[in-house]
Amino acid sequence: MSSASGAAPAARLPGVDRVLSTPLARQLSAEHGASSTTAAVRAAIDALRPAALAGELDGEALAPEAIAHHAARRLADRLAPRFKTVFNLTGTVLHTNLGRALLPDAAVQAVVQALTAPANLEYDLATGGRGDRDDLVEDLLCELTGAEAATVVNNNAAAVLLALNTLALGREAIVSRGELVEIGGAFRIPDVMARAGSTLVEVGTTNRTHAHDYAGAIGAQTAALMKVHCSNYAITGFTKSVAEAEVAAIAHAHGLPLVVDLGSGTLVDLAQWGLPHEPTVRDVIAAGADLVTFSGDKLLGGPQAGLIVGRKDLIAAIKKNPLKRALRVGKLTLAALEPVLRLYLTPERLPERLTTLRLFTRPQADMQAQVAQLLPDVQSAVGAGYAVCSAACSSQIGSGALPVNTLPSWGLALQPVQSKGAGSALARLEAALRALPRPVIGRIESGALWLDLRCLEAHELPAFQAQLPLLGKALAQI
Ligand SMILES: *Cc1c(COP(=O)(O)O)cnc(C)c1O
Repeated sequence: MSSASGAAPAARLPGVDRVLSTPLARQLSAEHGASSTTAAVRAAIDALRPAALAGELDGEALAPEAIAHHAARRLADRLAPRFKTVFNLTGTVLHTNLGRALLPDAAVQAVVQALTAPANLEYDLATGGRGDRDDLVEDLLCELTGAEAATVVNNNAAAVLLALNTLALGREAIVSRGELVEIGGAFRIPDVMARAGSTLVEVGTTNRTHAHDYAGAIGAQTAALMKVHCSNYAITGFTKSVAEAEVAAIAHAHGLPLVVDLGSGTLVDLAQWGLPHEPTVRDVIAAGADLVTFSGDKLLGGPQAGLIVGRKDLIAAIKKNPLKRALRVGKLTLAALEPVLRLYLTPERLPERLTTLRLFTRPQADMQAQVAQLLPDVQSAVGAGYAVCSAACSSQIGSGALPVNTLPSWGLALQPVQSKGAGSALARLEAALRALPRPVIGRIESGALWLDLRCLEAHELPAFQAQLPLLGKALAQI
C-alpha cells in the first residue's frame, strides 16, 4: 500500500531477496547456511532503517552489496569464539581468572586421545568387568603422597564439601579462627561447612590458637578437627598456630579424624629449585592427617580437580556418599591428570617438563633478553605517546599459593609521556591490548602499564610480535 510517504527514504532500502541475490550473500549462504544468512541480512536491514528513514544514508550505503557486507560482519561476530586464548603478562603465573595452570604436552596429547577414542574410563581391562574411574590415578596419588587411598572430584572446594559432608553431617567440625579462609570466587570455609551440613566450632583467636583450644572444644557432637592452609594471606606478628602433627595427636586421642585443606598442595619440596618452601601433601600425611584435600590446577600444575588422599576407610566412605557422584570428574580431567602425576615420578626433570614449574623457575637472563628484543617493537607499536622501558618487576605464583613470596622477574613498563590525562591514557592502552586478536593482559601499577614477561615463553614470541602492528590501530579506535 502506498501512501504519501511512499517515496520516503526508507523505501529505498532494498528488500531481503535483493540482498540475498548479491554474490557476497550467495557466498555467505553457501558457507553458513540459508537460514543464518537470511536472518543476518534481515537484521542488517532493520539496523539501518532508522538512519535510512532519517535520510542519513546515501545511495552507496543503501546498495544491496553494502548491506550484504553488514550481514557478513554480523555473521562473523556471531561465529567468533567467545573463549579465547590470551597472553598472560600480569605477572601472576597461576591466574585464576585466566585459567590457572597450563598443562604440559603429555597431558594435552592424552586429552586429545580421550576426546577422539573410547577409553577404559570405568572398564577393568584385566577382568572385562566394570571399573572405578578413580583407579586410573589412585596408585599414583598414593605413591606420591604416602597416603593409603585417594579419590578425585571437580575441584578443591568440592573436595572440602564432600569430606565434611561425609565425616561431619549433622555434627561439629573444629577449626581455628585464624584459618576461616575466604578464597576469591566465593569459597569461604564457614559457608562451605554450613552447606556440607556440619556445624562450625571456631576455636582460638584470629592471631593465636593453642593446642588446648582444640582439646577444650571437643565434645560428644564433634566429628572432626580441621586445619585450613592460609591461602592468599599471612598472619604475622604475635601469632601462634598449632602444627598438623599436634592437632592430629589431639584428634586421635579422642578417636577423631583430622582433615586438612591444603589448598594448593604441592607434591614436591619447591625449595630444591630455589622457590619458597611449602609443606608437601606427603609431609601432612606423615604428620598424621587422616584426609588431605588440594587443588589439581594450582602448584600441582594439572587440570582443575580436587584431590582427596588419606585413610582407606575414610576414602571408602567418601566414595559411597551420593554427593561423590554429583562431584565426580569427567574423562578429560582424568586423562590430563594422570600424565601430570606421572611426571612427578621423575622429579629431577620436573622443571623442564611441568609447565608451571618451568614458569616459576624461568631464568631472569631469559626474560631480560626477551625484554631487550621486544622493546623497540613495542615502542614503535604504541607510538610517541608512551615511553617504553625495560624494568625489573615481581611476579607472583598466584591462586593463593605462597601469597607473601614474589619471584624476581623482568618486563616492559609503558608510561604515558604526558602527565596530564595519564590515567585515561593508561586505561586506553590497557583496553587496546585487550582488543587485539589474541588479547594481551598486563597490569597497571605505579603509573605504568606493566607487561611481565615471565609467562611469555620463547615459542609464544612470534605470535606476540606478529600482532604488535595492530596495536596502533586498536589504540586509535578506543
Ligand atoms: C584454592 C583453595 C580452595 C579452593 O580450591 P579450588 O580448586 O579452586 O576449588 C580451597 N581451600 C584453599 C585453602 C585453597 O587455597
